[in-house]
This record gives sequence, structure tokens and C-alpha cells, in this order.
Amino acid sequence: MAIALGLVMATVLVHQTGGTRYAYPYLLLLPIIFAGAVFKVPGGLIAAAAAGLALGPWMPLDVTIGTMQTTEDWLVRMGMYAVIGGFSGALSTMLFAYQQEALIKERRDPVSGLIAPMVAERLRPGRDTRETIGFEPAFAVVIAFEGLETVLRMMGLEASNRAIFQFAHVLTEAIGDRALVTRIHGSTFGILLPPGRRNFSLIAERMKKSMPDAIEIDNCSIILMLRVGIGRIDESDRFYGQPFRKPLAALHLARFRGHRVARYNRSIDRQAQENLSLIGEFSEALQQERLSVHFQPKVDMATGHVFAAEALVRWWSDTRGFVPPGRFIPLIEHTTLIDPMTRFVAEQSVRMSAEWRAGGLNIDVALNICPSLLRSRDFLSFLEQLPGRYGVPASTIEIEITETALMDDIVAMRRTLERLCAHGFLIAIDDYGTGYASLKYLKELPVNWVKLDQSFVRDLPGNEASCEISAATAAMCKRLNYKVIAEGVETSDSLEFLRAQGFDAVQGYHHAKPMPPEEFLDWASGNLAAMENPRPAVPA
Ligand code: C2E
Ligand code: MG
Ligand code: MG
Repeated sequence: MAIALGLVMATVLVHQTGGTRYAYPYLLLLPIIFAGAVFKVPGGLIAAAAAGLALGPWMPLDVTIGTMQTTEDWLVRMGMYAVIGGFSGALSTMLFAYQQEALIKERRDPVSGLIAPMVAERLRPGRDTRETIGFEPAFAVVIAFEGLETVLRMMGLEASNRAIFQFAHVLTEAIGDRALVTRIHGSTFGILLPPGRRNFSLIAERMKKSMPDAIEIDNCSIILMLRVGIGRIDESDRFYGQPFRKPLAALHLARFRGHRVARYNRSIDRQAQENLSLIGEFSEALQQERLSVHFQPKVDMATGHVFAAEALVRWWSDTRGFVPPGRFIPLIEHTTLIDPMTRFVAEQSVRMSAEWRAGGLNIDVALNICPSLLRSRDFLSFLEQLPGRYGVPASTIEIEITETALMDDIVAMRRTLERLCAHGFLIAIDDYGTGYASLKYLKELPVNWVKLDQSFVRDLPGNEASCEISAATAAMCKRLNYKVIAEGVETSDSLEFLRAQGFDAVQGYHHAKPMPPEEFLDWASGNLAAMENPRPAVPA
């Protein structure tokens, strides 16, 4: 617009000042050079042609006496304009490419040696990338090298940086030079791939073939546990930049679902929005104390007595109805809300347990605690003060930690468990069998209970694999001197099978579903009364 206006104004000025014989035609050079600088060679040439024609056949040499120019005159001028416009465009292209190249060279990420994420993130797939990396990317992929946190914690920053550098090296070697590789942050890498499904499969194939399973750092083999997010680049990425937004969203989903690879689609954004609004509503419910706690009995296999109750949080939302913990806990687990929620459940449960005890019912409570909280000193001291505040022994509180959480950071977790154990708490490994915990690690942990995951219990005794897993778990627990409980026991057949395998306790709908405190109290009183006053045998 500014260029067109400049051309028109300069043309009018030339006419007003008497025609092309005076010096004013030089003014036209300004919009031409400007067009070249902004729109490169094509822009410079188009502006030159427009200016040449504007001061061309119809423009007199001298307006006052009406002398017209010769054809050569205006053609030569147009040629000169074209040379200047083209030159300005070419110069601008060169300068831009030089600047991008310098930017990329200068802004190498010092740790990985790759292009710094800031530079790659700012590249708008399209013209920018064509000029700097030689192609217009069609796919963006992010690869997270998981487990690096542990290297950092156990071997230090320098070793972790070396691991990043080595990983960057094997990644670029595997991918070749037909893609741009960058480090987005931490141990997450980004790749921009050229168009064509064939290219995509080719690079994926090369990665599969040539990526090693592990890298060596200080004689220690670090397994490459990779998670991948994939996104297709479309118009919005071309316009706004940030080519890695979509594959990062896909990666997040992959992590959340425990998958290794996820592809971006629009529903991921919708899901992310839905999750955000769920978190918002949960936060309100928590503040307004609209959460409650239900209790599910754990029953001793030998006596049939209830000896403990697992506390399970419950949320009835005004708009959504009952929201199962499996829907909201994984979401809030990574937010600060998990802390006040767990404190709320813990307080309610220990208070209930104190009341039951006061009424003569000696029933322990089991609390589900997320691993992130066990890393918080503040939360640990809250837990440690809890028994004293309600006047119950710590040995009546069981802490359930999922097996996968334990395996996350075994060294730190062992220290925490030892500290809790020293305070008298009981420790249970929840969802056992889902996390591939090795015996070697389990043996080192101060654990009282192992709780076999319900996925192995649900179809007992009909499913051969489940039978073997439950039998092996019971045998292993006996050897290691742990008590073993099965959750999700729904039928008397499965109960009898577990009894035969030597399980110490069971929990499941067969005995009772999770219940509100008053209902639980009735159930537990009935259960204990029934067990303590067994019905006399009917005389024959
Ligand atoms: P979990 O700790 O493994 O708890 C057992 C889950 O299995 C509970 O689901 C329980 O209602 C269900 N269950 C028990 N017996 C049976 C059965 O016989 N059949 C079937 N189909 N299900 C049975 P719920 O209450 O939906 O909780 C799901 C998960 O949410 C829990 O698994 C736990 O990981 C988490 N969770 C619940 N409450 C809390 C809490 O207060 N804090 C934390 N951090 N996590 C919690
Ligand atoms: Mg549990
Ligand atoms: Mg469980």
C-alpha cells in the first residue's frame, strides 16, 4: 500500500513539476528500492515496471510546452529502474539469508550443539525455513528422552549434559541432514521434517534402525526411553510460528496415557480445554469443601474381620454428577491442588479412625499418596504430625504408594519410606504388577504390604495368566516377608483361589463397595459383631 502510494505521489509530482526532463523522476527510486527490500526481487521488479510505465509513454518530457519523450528515453529509464529494483531485492534476500545463518550459527544450544530452540521456535515454517534450512517443513516431531532426571539426580549436571550431547549426536546421525533437529528444553528434542509421507516414513525407519538402545556415560549404560509426539504443520503454524506446539501437546497426551507415541489431532486441544475446566471446577469444589471421603474395608483372610479401611476421595460436581477419582486425580496430580486435597482426605480419615477407635472399633486407615507429595518436606511433616493431632498411633495409618511411583526414583523413595517407617507408619505398594518392579528393588524397600492390582484379580480363577501372577506374587511376598492383599475381589471363587494361594487379606465388592463414613461404621460394626459372636452351630 505504502509502495503504491509512493509510486502514485512521485508520478504526480513529476507531472506537476514539469515532466521527465527535470530531476524528479529520481524520486521514483525510493518506492522501488523499498519494494525490493520488502518483497525481494519480484517486488523490486514489479515496482520498477509500474514506475517505468507511470513515467512512460503518456508522461511529457516537458508538460508546459507539451514535448513528449522518445520511446528509448522511457525504456532506458524503466530498464534502470528494473536493475535498481532487482538489485535491491537480491541484496535484501542475501542479507536476510546471511542474518538467519548468523542467527542459527550464533545461537547454537551450548549443551546439545543443536540449533537453539529459540531460533527454531521462531522460524515460521514457510518462507523462513525455506531460506534457512532449505525446505518447507510439513511435519514437526518432538522426542522426549525420559529418565534423564534420574541421571541428573544421581550423576550430576555435567553427566546429564553429556548425556544430552550424546543423545543429540545419535539423533542427528540417525535422522541425517534432511531435517532440522533442535533441543526444545531439558531432554525434549524437536525435529522439522520435509514434506512427503515417504520422507516421513524413511526418517522414522532410519531412526528405528540406527538409534541405539542405550548410551554410555561414565561406564554406566543409560537406556534411551523415548516418547514421541507428532504434528502436521498447517497454515496456522505457517502464520504464527511455534511449529512444535502441536507435537508437544501430543507428547503430553502420550505421557498422560502412558503411550510411547501420540499424533496430534484437534481433539487433543479440545481435551486439554476440557481438562483445564475440570481442574478449575475441582479447585472450586475443594475450596468450598464439597469433597467427601468413602471407605472400603480390607478384610483379613483368616478371620474374615475388617482390620482396615482404604480412604477414597469422592467428588459430586453440580454440573457433571459423580466424577471418578480416576478422571481427576491424574490431572490434579501435577498441580498444586493435590496437596490440599490429600491433606483434606488424610485429616478426614484419621479423624474417623480416631472416632471408630473411641467407639471400640480398631480399624486402621489406608491413605493413597501421590509420589510428588512424598518429595515435599512440608507434606511429610504434615503426615508425621497427623497421628499426634488425633491421638492415634502412626502404626494405624497405612500409606499406599503405587508401584510405578516407587520405581520412578527408587533412591529418593527409599529414603522417604525409611523416614515414614521410622515414624511407625505402615507402607503398602499399591497396584502391584502394573509397574514391572524388580524384586531386587522391592527387597530394599521398607514395605509392609503388597497389594496385587485388580487387573490380575478380576478374572480369577478363570484366567491362566492371572492365576500364575497372583500365585507368584503371594509366593514372593512370603519369601520377602511382606503381607499380601488382593484388591478388586468380586466373587467367592476368586476369594477362595486367593485364600489357597496364601493371600493375607482381600478388598473388593465381594465384601463391600466404598461407603460413606456412617454406612461404613454400620457395616464394620456388623462385620465385627458377626465375627466375634459366630452363630452357634445348629444341633443336629
Ligand atoms: P486404588 O487406590 O487402587 O483404589 C482402588 C479402586 O478400585 C477404587 O476406585 C475402588 O473403588 C475400586 N475397587 C475396589 N474394589 C473393587 C472391585 O471389587 N471391583 C471394581 N471394579 N473396583 C473396585 P476409585 O475409588 O475409583 O479410585 C481409583 C483410584 O483413584 C484409586 O485406585 C487411587 O489410585 C485413586 N484415588 C482415590 N482416592 C484417592 C485419594 O484420596 N488420593 C489419591 N492420591 N488417590 C486416590
Ligand atoms: Mg489404593
Ligand atoms: Mg490399587
